[in-house]
Amino acid sequence: MKILTLSLGVSLSFSRFLSQEKALTKIEEIEKVKLNSVEFGLLNCAIGQAGFSGIIPFPTEKQAQSILKLFRNNNYYFSVHAPYRISATTEEESKLKYSKSNLSATLKVTDWLGGHHVTFHAGSFKKKHNNKHVDKVLKSWEKWRQDKGYNAILAPEVGGKYNSFADFFTLVEITGGIDNCLMTWDISHDFARGGKIIDEEGILTRLEKLDEAFDLNPSNRLPMHFSGMVVGKTGEKHHTLLGKGNGVPWELVLSVLKEQNFLSKVNLICESKVPKGEKMSGNAISDALKARRFLESGQIVKKYKGKPGNLHYYFT
Ligand SMILES: [Zn+2]
Repeated sequence: MKILTLSLGVSLSFSRFLSQEKALTKIEEIEKVKLNSVEFGLLNCAIGQAGFSGIIPFPTEKQAQSILKLFRNNNYYFSVHAPYRISATTEEESKLKYSKSNLSATLKVTDWLGGHHVTFHAGSFKKKHNNKHVDKVLKSWEKWRQDKGYNAILAPEVGGKYNSFADFFTLVEITGGIDNCLMTWDISHDFARGGKIIDEEGILTRLEKLDEAFDLNPSNRLPMHFSGMVVGKTGEKHHTLLGKGNGVPWELVLSVLKEQNFLSKVNLICESKVPKGEKMSGNAISDALKARRFLESGQIVKKYKGKPGNLHYYFT
């Protein structure tokens, strides 16, 4: 069984304000169940900007070093999720500049943590998708990253909303064309925006594209996110637990990854959560364990049995 090659974990929210006690509690939970991957979430961190209040500062180098000391073993695969304030789709110079400052702060923290990559949402489009513009921006950011000597790899994420950048195929084409760049494949987002991952063929096509675009191996894994998802007419509404919402085909995707010997090429982060105001038992850790149990059970799911809900635009 290829289970030893599994890199599976959850995210851990990190900022200047995270207390050592809180971090330790979460890390102990993760260690107890032997997950081996952690994505530090800097989601609400930001560089101070005039006119904005309530800014949460990025962690310091000292804080990064102390949080690392809380992990008892050193076989973790670490990564970072950048703040939401980054946009590669905007055409406004000032916004692009502000995005780059936040990206720079994120890359610094990621290198202190020894993280492999930075996952980030690349932005949305108000009017027409302008892929050429994003391609240009990402290329310039990648060049700048290398000039600055940051080690962490850029990995923009498949967006969950129909107007967000970008769908799986656009992203694999753009990031695959940039040296040393990766992408983050969030299967719940892919599903929410109408990606055809509800049958084996759609998933296989994606794996083929990934193999063509990137050199994936156990030390350069494709970042993947999974969770339950509530879907509306424009795509993602919000994350939920596996098996809830509109039925993300996680068992089918994991089955194909396993059959194609792809598990050693991906880093799986569970982003499940109980939606605000709802009562459900479970969380990202219990859902990550659900995925691990499924993989270890030897079970293979061939057909999607869920109902994708009110989505009527499955395309590729
Ligand atoms: Zn995600």
